[in-house]
Amino acid sequence: MQYTSTRNNSVRVTASQAIVKGISEDGGLFVPTEFPQISLEKLTELSALGYKDVAKYVLSLYLTDFTKEEIDSCVEGAYADGKFSSEDIAPLHELSGNFIEELWRGPTCAFKDMALQLLPHLLTVSAKKQADGKTIVILVATSGDTGKAALEGFKDVENTRILVFYPSDGVSPMQKLQMNTQQGENVCVCAIKGNFDDAQSGVKAIFTDGEIAKKLAENNMQFSSANSINWGRLVPQIVYYVFAYCQLVKKGAVKPGEKINIVVPTGNFGNILAAYYAKKMGVPVNKFVCASNKNNVLTDFITTGEYNKNREFFTTYSPSMDILISSNLERLLFEVFDRDDEKVRECMGSLVTDGKYTVGDIQAKIIAEEFAAGCCNDVQTLETIGKTFKEENYLLDTHTAVAVKVFEDYAQKTGDKTVSVIASTANPYKFSAAVLKAVAPDKKVESEFDAVDAVHEITGVECPKQLAELKDKTPRFDRTCEKSEMTGVVFGMLGI
Ligand SMILES: *Cc1c(COP(=O)(O)O)cnc(C)c1O
Repeated sequence: MQYTSTRNNSVRVTASQAIVKGISEDGGLFVPTEFPQISLEKLTELSALGYKDVAKYVLSLYLTDFTKEEIDSCVEGAYADGKFSSEDIAPLHELSGNFIEELWRGPTCAFKDMALQLLPHLLTVSAKKQADGKTIVILVATSGDTGKAALEGFKDVENTRILVFYPSDGVSPMQKLQMNTQQGENVCVCAIKGNFDDAQSGVKAIFTDGEIAKKLAENNMQFSSANSINWGRLVPQIVYYVFAYCQLVKKGAVKPGEKINIVVPTGNFGNILAAYYAKKMGVPVNKFVCASNKNNVLTDFITTGEYNKNREFFTTYSPSMDILISSNLERLLFEVFDRDDEKVRECMGSLVTDGKYTVGDIQAKIIAEEFAAGCCNDVQTLETIGKTFKEENYLLDTHTAVAVKVFEDYAQKTGDKTVSVIASTANPYKFSAAVLKAVAPDKKVESEFDAVDAVHEITGVECPKQLAELKDKTPRFDRTCEKSEMTGVVFGMLGI
């Protein structure tokens, strides 16, 4: 199995090279040259296995330059007993005939843990294969959850340094506190004045700057990425869609071969892309439902074929989806353009120069066949949390609520009765203030932790210990920089 670049399809690298590099030199993203297939018999066989064994199998199809022992030890390390608050790792919760897949049972209470507990292991093994002994410098741009999950995954991992940039006013108080209290000798956190797109484009610019790369190399260092542009982030995410399907077969909720819908609250398009890749491997999927908040650039793209980021940016109750430039969409374009790298370069070029691009009618049609899309605002988000709690006694976080609402609208509009899996991406206590507004609109509280207590009192749902404990922690990091200062912050942290 080899990997190519979305912007130059003559590139060939191995899995470990793709993971260490993070992004291709031409600015493109690494994608597998072909999708390995899982037959229905195999899917049925996998239904008898636990999460770790399904993960080992799926990874072995993609990471062909890893030995079986390496894959086993990466997976065992990532999902070791006690790290996730559910034995199933990604348990399914039934909600009026459909299923919520709880992807937030990991150490930082967001779905990012599913991949970011594994990525440091994959990266360490990959770096050894390259055998050049360089320190890997992980640069992260985060809309809140990736930052913490990456810090936790990489803390004190040998031969790595990690630096996280987050938008100063674009994350929840709990997310900010999670990052700023991070322990570990190799970690650093910095807020930037701007939004997530500023952070992400700043990080991408640093990555692809030849002069900066040279300076790192002189100091025996090399950049890599823990954002979902890194193949090592995406491949672990494919696993939980394969796992979800297997669990549904096991429960008898679907017959082997029966199609399901997959509903994903979407920001950077990484999570839903992983679901699309699972389909390409043979998981039977009818529709992907792409759910957005008020930043509905993807809803418009999927329904019209035009991607246009020239629009107002909104901060919402679902901050991890406050994104106008969804990087992983580039990988979908590569597929719908039938792997024509020139077409991808054209689109990405006009995104930079004009802030928009349009795909052809054929591509728009392919996308509309595979994907449905919808969006909802903050009021609807809170209503959905309130209603789901009242009717189902199940507490949603603000992001998952967007998915539930968009799915309800979709099901009503189309009459589609296909069994559906909704990706649940965060624990509700990461967004306590908003969740409290949803379940008790008149309740007034002074602080984030008062909101935690109030939500607990009203719903009886336990707050995960690792979030409750933040109350007594003192932040280690408090720096805020301008976007133009990011390179300086990187050099400062590295001492070069
Ligand atoms: C990151 C994140 C998302 C968006 O996922 P993408 O892969 O960027 O589309 C949704 N919800 C939560 C809670 C997140 O942390």
